[in-house]
Amino acid sequence: RLILAIETSCDETAAAIIRNGSEIVSNVVSSQIESQKRFGGVVPEIASRHHVEQITIVIEEALAKANMQPSDLDAVAVTEGPGLVGALLIGINAAKAFAFANGLPIVGVHHIAGHIYANALVQEMQFPLLALVVSGGHTELVLMREHGSFEVIGETRDDAAGEAYDKVARVLNMPYPGGPHIDRMAHEATAAVEFPRAWLEDSYDFSFSGLKSAVINYKHNMDQRGEEIIPEQVAKGFQDSVVEVLTTKTLRAAKEFNVKQVIAAGGVSANKGLRTSLEEVFEKEGIEFTVPPLKFCTDNAAMIGAAATYMYDAGVRGNLAMNGLPGKELTSWSK
Ligand code: ATP
Ligand code: MG
Ligand code: FE
Repeated sequence: RLILAIETSCDETAAAIIRNGSEIVSNVVSSQIESQKRFGGVVPEIASRHHVEQITIVIEEALAKANMQPSDLDAVAVTEGPGLVGALLIGINAAKAFAFANGLPIVGVHHIAGHIYANALVQEMQFPLLALVVSGGHTELVLMREHGSFEVIGETRDDAAGEAYDKVARVLNMPYPGGPHIDRMAHEATAAVEFPRAWLEDSYDFSFSGLKSAVINYKHNMDQRGEEIIPEQVAKGFQDSVVEVLTTKTLRAAKEFNVKQVIAAGGVSANKGLRTSLEEVFEKEGIEFTVPPLKFCTDNAAMIGAAATYMYDAGVRGNLAMNGLPGKELTSWSK
């Protein structure tokens, strides 16, 4: 199966061609980070305009790099949601036009299923599997008993992990997206400011808004006293709290559900502190742990193509009435 996948849910315009669910024939990502930086985040109108300008170029480049014609393909896949509705629609309309013009079936993919299936690009998934999804808009623990089966056993009650990273970065005067900056600064620190951990008792839910407020208050109080903060120590204190909570809850869930494999997914899974912590803990526990290579942690179309291949094989098909679903739930496609 040869699938052309398209992703435009947020601020990267991406297209990829994937063979048999794991082989990356081509992978093109056009990021808008440079233009969004000026605004300290993603402005939906600007994102949409960028996608319009880039989408045809990116699709043509994916085909050219693969040295392929549309007639070589078996299907077109596209992110259906969640995401910014205006951004999603540009990918969806491009996918529909491409599918219609070339007589190909179309498959609508959930963006988070895509993040999870980024792992299938590097290793076969083994079930039952636990996925820690940590991205700009999501933080959840997802239990998978087989391909296409998703059970959300815990999720954030307020901010997503990536969102918290980006907000704390702003407090420390770091540009958008802040995650990589906080990560780097945390590693440069020799000491850490102590910030709280939100355990939420026995639940697998998460909360990051209290931690975010603690960082803001700390900065505010230091400013009031005319004292200088040490940004690296703030970054480390924040990251230590996030990583400890994510690691502890993921480990507890992995044991409770007796999973064969744990994976991490989403932009924050690019975080060095988090990767190291999860690797150490699961190595010790003797549970297999995988995380995608850095460039497949943040948004890309290869991951959409990987998920789409399993959907395509399960007989899932969309049609030309497909619409952007900004609040799409992560529902199973198996059964
Ligand atoms: P969603 O996938 O929930 O719809 P999104 O697509 O905007 O949201 P991703 O592209 O998966 O999110 O991830 C982007 C987020 O990842 C940003 O918040 C960014 O700061 C964060 N991020 C990227 N690299 C790192 C890092 N090394 N450490 C921490 N966070 C990081
Ligand atoms: Mg992004
Ligand atoms: Fe994403």
